Amino acid sequence: MDATQRIISRHDEHMSPNYPRFPVAMVEGAGCELFDAEGRAYLDLFAGFGASLLGHAHPDLVEAVSAQAKRLWHAGNVLHTEPQTRLAEWIGHKGFGGRSFFCHSGADANETAIKLARRYGRVNPGAEGPRYKILATEGGFHGRSFATMMATGQEAARKGFEPHLAGFDHVRYGDPEAMAEAVDETTVAVLVEPIQGEGGLHVPDEGYLTALRRLCDAHDLLLIVDEVWTGCGRTGRWFAHQHAGITPDALTLAKGVGGGLPVGVCCMRREHAELFDAKQQGGVVHATTLGGNCLAMAAGEAVFRVIERDGLLEQAAALGARAHARLERMAAEVPGAVEARGRGLFQGVKLDPSVPDTWFESAKDVVRAGLDRGLILGAAQDEVVRIAPPLTITTGQLDDGLDRLEALIRGA
Ligand code: PLP
Repeated sequence: MDATQRIISRHDEHMSPNYPRFPVAMVEGAGCELFDAEGRAYLDLFAGFGASLLGHAHPDLVEAVSAQAKRLWHAGNVLHTEPQTRLAEWIGHKGFGGRSFFCHSGADANETAIKLARRYGRVNPGAEGPRYKILATEGGFHGRSFATMMATGQEAARKGFEPHLAGFDHVRYGDPEAMAEAVDETTVAVLVEPIQGEGGLHVPDEGYLTALRRLCDAHDLLLIVDEVWTGCGRTGRWFAHQHAGITPDALTLAKGVGGGLPVGVCCMRREHAELFDAKQQGGVVHATTLGGNCLAMAAGEAVFRVIERDGLLEQAAALGARAHARLERMAAEVPGAVEARGRGLFQGVKLDPSVPDTWFESAKDVVRAGLDRGLILGAAQDEVVRIAPPLTITTGQLDDGLDRLEALIRGA
């Protein structure tokens, strides 16, 4: 039995089988490369669903986490620890100046925002009493906890978990009029991704977020922007809503903000954060024991510092434009590739397996074949092959990865 098989058989014995895993075991990473238990190298164009934002074992992150590990890991949130404040300062300064609550995942972050909206709807009721309904989008993805599963606009994510939580509605993504029609006396918030990631990498028209901001202002709704995928430079700005020039009421982050350590963030407008104020509200309203853990915060702070120091926003924008142009060429020239989608270093190509002479039946076939050839890609909704490489990727690595992706789609 080889090393990989040994890892897999012990996994199968003791691990809950939640994930459809490929039969590959990764043991090491460096920059944009991963190495498996057999010593094979892979070019990583997906960065663990975008979370390894600066690549693997980035020296600054290793140094920041190691230094913090020798000082303090965890003290508990009835005491102050400075690493939390430092990361919150970065998020506030680079974002809209809000106040951050730290947790561990995208689901946690959105759960926080949903609870914030419920509090807001009680303090600012409608004609029929407290407002509670969250409007989200069809195809949207916000997490797998109970409330975020309800906000997720994908039936498959909710199936089998009935009875469902009330208070969520879904409208067509990218359609501000549909959103406006869905608003009623009970509506309190709109929850939206600036680019729909899991839904198939949909980039909305210019003006979508601006129209939603206007709608929210007109009806006193909170605009919650889910930047779990798009935050921290992935699209070439610190946060993707900044392309639209709007200010949200709440911003949620996870994946890349911890650079590969579990960090979730719900950053709220100053006055809204007071809805969670333990002093004003007469006790704790929302909390999590390890939220703001010192090691995770040290990693997050280093992520922001390196992005700024190394000009990685500009790099993500430039390399993203290069990748998009290349994917557009593929969509024009390669049989079965039909549409380039994305912004910054969050890019993908839609496939159509019904085109004659294509060898794949779904995007997942291409991802699997990539892995066999040492290339890590992602899929969304069976039809889109995605790339979300570390922002530290070099032009040479990106071009090499896209050459190999094109060869894969061609079946060469
Ligand atoms: N929000 C968005 C936009 C996501 O894409 C995801 C996960 O893919 C989540 C939230 C949930 O994040 P997590 O898996 O960290 O709970």
